[in-house]
Amino acid sequence: MSELRVIFDLDDTLYPESAFARSGFRAAGAWADAAFGVDGMAAEMDQLFSEGHLGPLFRKALARHVPDHADGDLERLVEVYRTHTPDIELFEDAVWALSHYGGTAPIGLITDGTASMQQAKVAALDIAGHFSEIVFTDALGGRDFRKPHPQSYEHMERTLGGNGARFVYVGDNPAKDFVTPNARGWISIQIRRPGGIHDPDKVADGGAPQHTINSLHELPDVLGRS
Ligand SMILES: [Mg+2]
Repeated sequence: MSELRVIFDLDDTLYPESAFARSGFRAAGAWADAAFGVDGMAAEMDQLFSEGHLGPLFRKALARHVPDHADGDLERLVEVYRTHTPDIELFEDAVWALSHYGGTAPIGLITDGTASMQQAKVAALDIAGHFSEIVFTDALGGRDFRKPHPQSYEHMERTLGGNGARFVYVGDNPAKDFVTPNARGWISIQIRRPGGIHDPDKVADGGAPQHTINSLHELPDVLGRS
């Protein structure tokens, strides 16, 4: 068995997060159509998303299309988005990486975000079977446990470590993904995805990746071929 323990991030590492957003907008638009008889809200949300208005997107779209909406409608709209069944697919290189690395040693997944939403993504991608360990950080006790909090990484070391294991974290977001791996002696690898949601050049203190790749097919160049 390989000594490598490759731990992956989910959003914009294994599948395009923008595809999740767009399938959520379709679900939210369908809800608005059913609830208020308004057309075009999904297209409006797509447009705001393309312009980079992520935070106020739902409030803006609702105010534009349903100006006389009631208290609680915004929360309901966001809830529809968060709980929809995602229409998403793995990147082609992620299909390869999960079976390649998962076939020779235990691999893991650490992902931030509302736990039920992240669980729905894992279910839609049908990838749980590849992983020996999955940590939904919010399920550890809320948002405080999101990366770079060390608990999820410690969990991987505790459950998958031993016998000279070398840990690797593969993620897309240098603002949070690599701070703790770097501090704990892991190998940190940034995958740069065109169209990714997070700025690939916004780097946290201590969070610079040790390696940068443009495709998961390049992982053996960094980790060796075994
Ligand atoms: Mg990510």
